[in-house]
Amino acid sequence: MNAEIISVGSELLLGQIVNTNATFLSKELAELGIDVYYQTTVGDNEQRLYETLKQAHSRADLLIITGGLGPTKDDLTKETVALFVGEELTYHEESLRSIEGYFQRRKREMTPNNRKQALIVRGSTALSNHFGMAPGMVVSYENKAIVLLPGPPKEMKPMFKNELVPHLTKLLGEQVSSITSRVLRFFNIGESQLETELMDILEAQSNPTIAPLASDGEVTLRLTVKHPSEAERLRLLDETEEQITKRVGAYLYGYGETTLFEQLFLQLRQKGCTIATAESFTGGKFSAALTSFSGSSEIFRGGTVSYATDVKEKVLGVSKRVIDEYGVISHHCANEMATCAKETYQADIAISFTGVAGPNPQEGKEPGTVYISIAGFATSPLSFELLLGGGREAVRERAMKYGCFYLLNE
Ligand code: ATP
Ligand code: MG
Repeated sequence: MNAEIISVGSELLLGQIVNTNATFLSKELAELGIDVYYQTTVGDNEQRLYETLKQAHSRADLLIITGGLGPTKDDLTKETVALFVGEELTYHEESLRSIEGYFQRRKREMTPNNRKQALIVRGSTALSNHFGMAPGMVVSYENKAIVLLPGPPKEMKPMFKNELVPHLTKLLGEQVSSITSRVLRFFNIGESQLETELMDILEAQSNPTIAPLASDGEVTLRLTVKHPSEAERLRLLDETEEQITKRVGAYLYGYGETTLFEQLFLQLRQKGCTIATAESFTGGKFSAALTSFSGSSEIFRGGTVSYATDVKEKVLGVSKRVIDEYGVISHHCANEMATCAKETYQADIAISFTGVAGPNPQEGKEPGTVYISIAGFATSPLSFELLLGGGREAVRERAMKYGCFYLLNE
């Protein structure tokens, strides 16, 4: 079974919006074990959409179209699909009643084009829209399925997950229900190094398949296994994961969609451990990231953004001697910053960041020079030196991720 995703909308071709629908659908379909061979984007133009349908139908088993189900004149997806399959459009009573109810409740007049949103291709299966008006639909044509979904992501995503996936599962039966994926997340190891370490496993492995992906300084490995028995799928995944972690387990920090910060938050909360921060060139971003989770008050005590040198001294309490002797871009300063924050905020653990975000050097140190220190349960703080590349924003972002990673291994 292979699929083609067709994104309809002139605003996509004009570069006014990013095609997040296609990204979402590709990812979800991969999880279901459905191969996407093509993603096509076409404007709000009947003739070109018709041509696109014809081509897609000739080469894919499943067509998933998003956009153009709304009330306006440029929304012509279902009209074009109806023409393509030689069917008429007919009102879907349930959707029509729901649209009428919407306008009655708001005491607003319903314009005729709003009725148009309740039209579906005759003989198709309607997919309910709980976050908008126009229903989606599954049209069967010459043993293939053409699926129409709305353009707005907040309508399209729940419709895909809650309405279409159960339908596809019935349609595909065994295939969908016999696939399980597991994503392993790594930090502090590059994609090429990871691949080198695992080369023989990657080459020999066919079930599960292993797909590496690198982004934002992190690498993930997606393991996808096919087998009718769930117990066997889990066994195969565990076995492969063990092979992988034997070699690169030191870099593994989490699973699935869990980010470094989320993992840190969960770990601190689970340990009942409180944290404080002393930030310089990260400007409070680390604290902001930690407080983005609900329940962060259980773990986060507080922090100081000590950007200027005299603030490090006067507000945070770093000694003048350390600053004069070693400078602020140093192991010593980072250690004192962390120790001061731990005391000031009465936290179990504190982390500090000092460094040169760039673009200019500071204290004779290159941009990207970073010192991170952790004052934890040990008697003296532990500091790390990094030389990060990639410009000011990348240096800040990556330093924060390293901070998380060090804390996770604390
Ligand atoms: P509506 O009833 O809102 O008109 P529709 O099904 O007709 O919905 P479109 O008119 O094609 O959908 O798109 C509506 C909006 O949905 C776009 O302005 C855009 O914000 C969003 N959208 C459409 N297609 C995509 C896409 N491929 N990726 C991300 N967003 C999209
Ligand atoms: Mg529209």
